[in-house]
Amino acid sequence: METEKYKLALQTELNQLNSEMKELGVKNPEVKGDWVERANDLDTVSADLNDVADRTEEYDERRATLATLEGRYNNIMHALKKIDDGSYGICEVSGETIEEDRLEANPAARTCKLHMNEG
Ligand SMILES: [Zn+2]
Repeated sequence: METEKYKLALQTELNQLNSEMKELGVKNPEVKGDWVERANDLDTVSADLNDVADRTEEYDERRATLATLEGRYNNIMHALKKIDDGSYGICEVSGETIEEDRLEANPAARTCKLHMNEG
């Protein structure tokens, strides 16, 4: 297995995620691996209702996007940790080797194809 190649791919994706997440939120200083959406400068008293609705929607979207990115980020961190401890490329459900083409498509995959919906 070309672990180095996957490691590089994972680190590249991690860097991209990091900059995307910096646009959307800030790291939670209290919980490692957790990100909090940026505070809204929403003035609900003076803003008109449409404006409030728009910004609330924006805020919800941002929070949803951030949650997705956070999930990918933590998945990648998990994969990098597995590279370090030598368990990378092994299905977390069956303990079988994960197919190379699955890792090519998703270097952070935790399971083989058979168990991809269970991992
Ligand atoms: Zn499996």
